[in-house]
Amino acid sequence: MLIKPRSESDILKIMRILNARMNLSEDEKKQYLYLKKGYEGEVAFDLLTASNLNSEIFILNDIMIEINHSKFQIDSSLIIQDTIIPCEVKNYEGNYFYKDGEFHLCSAKKPITNPLHQLKRTETLLQQYLKKNGFCFRILPYLVFINPKFFLYQAPQNDSIIFPPQLRSFMEKLNSRPSNLNGMQRKLADKLIADHNIESPYPKLPPYKYHSLQKGTTCAICNSFFIICDERKLKCDACGAEESVETAVIRSVEELKLLFPDLKITTNIIHDWCRVVESKKTIRRILTKNYQLVGYGKYSNFNTKLEE
Ligand SMILES: [Zn+2]
Repeated sequence: MLIKPRSESDILKIMRILNARMNLSEDEKKQYLYLKKGYEGEVAFDLLTASNLNSEIFILNDIMIEINHSKFQIDSSLIIQDTIIPCEVKNYEGNYFYKDGEFHLCSAKKPITNPLHQLKRTETLLQQYLKKNGFCFRILPYLVFINPKFFLYQAPQNDSIIFPPQLRSFMEKLNSRPSNLNGMQRKLADKLIADHNIESPYPKLPPYKYHSLQKGTTCAICNSFFIICDERKLKCDACGAEESVETAVIRSVEELKLLFPDLKITTNIIHDWCRVVESKKTIRRILTKNYQLVGYGKYSNFNTKLEE
């Protein structure tokens, strides 16, 4: 049973917008692709657990906890009976080899950051967290390689590593564990969610300014600027995706708020940001319908979204 779904982190959203609207350096681009790939792997694992695990297993995706001034993140936590299973999901792709306890990309000389060490750290901190909060659960950590195009030469025989061909039997094994929910599991799940710290340690963002970013509405699917607009619809010339003008404008407003939390949202600025929607009247109508107008005259803004 899915207790906590995953959502895209703000940092990934910001990097995606910046990647479309400015020239990122090689390193920044790498950072963006790394985040994107990691997220895609986690979502792929979420799909597997959601569709394969039985309802007696609690699934919590993406939990960030702080304990004794250390933060740790668990990609997926499964709670079964008296056991909590933290899963570290890796979306590695290509050929790697394992030597002297380290993982190496075949094409590189230096080993990569050891995911088993990361898993061990998670286990240690989770142990402290459970103890501090009076929970008596066994911890059974797993390192999950989700990408079918991942291959590891000289792989260690380690029960806590799940390779892509083992995913199916891993799900079956979890389902076969006796599970008898008695309230403690829910209590732990609720506590983890309550302590979930949304503000992850923010990595350094590339410097950006409103004036240096490319303006225009991007496609919601492929992020391209090849957008044609008629009265009600936007159409992407690159991938063919269609979106209503209203949805696209709201999406653009939310983008802008994420990039510039202190910016005053006005009809003029959204008109400038979206570009493709020619009529200011249309922009104003959409803003008035979906956002609360606060203040008067030149101090007015549409920063607060109305609840659906
Ligand atoms: Zn597109």
